[in-house]
Amino acid sequence: MAGQVTSAAEELAGLIAASDRVVALTGAGVSVPSGIPDFRTPGKGLWAKVDPMAVATIDAFHSDTKRFWDFYRPRFHDLADKEPNPAHTVLAELERRGRLDAVITQNIDRLHRKAGSEDVIEVHGSIATASCTSCGESYPLEEVESLFDADGVATCRGCAGKVKPDVVLFGELLPADAMARAEQLCSSADLLLCIGSSLEVHPVAGLPGLTLAHGGRIAIITRSSTPYDSDAAVRLDGDVAEDLQAVLAGLDG
Ligand code: ZN
Repeated sequence: MAGQVTSAAEELAGLIAASDRVVALTGAGVSVPSGIPDFRTPGKGLWAKVDPMAVATIDAFHSDTKRFWDFYRPRFHDLADKEPNPAHTVLAELERRGRLDAVITQNIDRLHRKAGSEDVIEVHGSIATASCTSCGESYPLEEVESLFDADGVATCRGCAGKVKPDVVLFGELLPADAMARAEQLCSSADLLLCIGSSLEVHPVAGLPGLTLAHGGRIAIITRSSTPYDSDAAVRLDGDVAEDLQAVLAGLDG
């Protein structure tokens, strides 16, 4: 057989080139090369030494706000200093070239925007801002540090209410407008790139099903197995940054 050997990355580049409406759905795996561990990786993640249900819940925020911030304050500092990696950069470049309509992300780290992606739907919120739970006043991340009182609780300048990061905590609903936009994008995508997500956390886990249901295709670029592996038109399971760089190179070639 003299057929040309086509790598999965080249195959995906071909799919992207042949699709009109391409959307990306990203999870924690996209930010791992930026030094942000995936909390589902056993023993290495953010939650390895803490019970998330004890701190990262909306009930914990209200019942023990000091403990909540004791946990989150250093983590926000740490996240704020992280930089995008080539996986983020490739997605920003695809958007710039008109090959990618939008990025739907489960990540709160702002790195897609830092990399230059413009249409980013943050379904779990973002550390970019925090809001007063009493009056709704919004504060940029850079100002949050100045809001802490002597007890270590971020407090609204206007009304002295509790200020909460605009990230979705356990026990909170996902932002309705962001989820509606994500569903609309996935329902009309020709190709959904599922990147660095195990696609197990609902309701985001249902999004690839919307693309498949209307006859679109999905590509899966992640190391872990997912419930959609057998539905994927292409499956890449190497280093996410290297895989995406190879896809971009395939588009150039
Ligand atoms: Zn307030």
